[in-house]
Amino acid sequence: MDRYVVIGNPISHSLSPAIHARFAEQTGESIRYERLLVALGEFDGEARRFFDGGGAGANVTLPFKVDAFEWADSSSERARAAGAANFLIARGRRIEADNTDGVGLVRDLERNLALGLRDARVLLVGAGGAARGVVAPILACAPARLVIANRTLERARRIAERFRAEGPIDAVALDAIPAEPFDLVLNATSASVHAEHLALPDRVFIGGALAYDMAYGAAADAFLERARERGMRVSDGLGMLVEQAAESFWLWRGKRPATQGVIGELRARRA
Ligand code: NDP
Repeated sequence: MDRYVVIGNPISHSLSPAIHARFAEQTGESIRYERLLVALGEFDGEARRFFDGGGAGANVTLPFKVDAFEWADSSSERARAAGAANFLIARGRRIEADNTDGVGLVRDLERNLALGLRDARVLLVGAGGAARGVVAPILACAPARLVIANRTLERARRIAERFRAEGPIDAVALDAIPAEPFDLVLNATSASVHAEHLALPDRVFIGGALAYDMAYGAAADAFLERARERGMRVSDGLGMLVEQAAESFWLWRGKRPATQGVIGELRARRA
């Protein structure tokens, strides 16, 4: 039976084993998928041990996505654009890295939440690894405008410079977000995960638009509650999580699982 793991620290909270178990049932694939807790600074050795022991593939989560990207023998264009990898696959002795987070977000927005990104005005808050990973896939959908706002302006500027040739992207500080209507406000900060206040001006919360927090579960509640009070449609990042997993499953197994039922089940379980 082919073996897969999700590597992270912490990792006990990860929903990935449950998601992949449902995908395997659905597609009739026989796989083993487990959590692998790795100590900080130990990524290379543990990943080597797993793949030397016959591991077929791995998902990688915080805080090891950059380590995974740097450790792999080769990487996809989208992993290079993100500078980080959440996906590894063994091809003989060689390990290839990819990044399925961006495509996961775009599929959740466009298919599950019916938000077309073409010509949309998008505000992306945050400029860490998650934000960087979704910029190229969003720009590939031809939005009217992508504004990236970050507490540390310089990080947002670096991302805007890197992707300027791929579409209409601008960088601003959190307190300088332009007073214009956005169709989508994406929270890609880790403020909610650390239970910290996210200092966003009220004017970005406009009724009718979609507010999306890449965090999921209770971590997304504060941002989404504020948006809901202002009449916005809201979603946490659970759909993104399931969609990035489905893309991983497809790359490993060559079968594309149905996702909406799995998202519904996980939401029902939380409720
Ligand atoms: P990083 O640590 O790389 O980046 C954190 C970002 O949050 C930075 O831009 C940082 O700003 C900003 N930030 C942190 N605290 C605050 C605050 N109090 N006020 C304003 N800005 C703040 O994290 P990641 O990019 O890897 O992850 C971000 C989020 O995305 C997490 O919640 C993560 O769980 C989620 N995620 C969800 C996925 C899914 O499948 N649903 C996939 C990947 C990530 P500064 O630069 O100023 O420090």
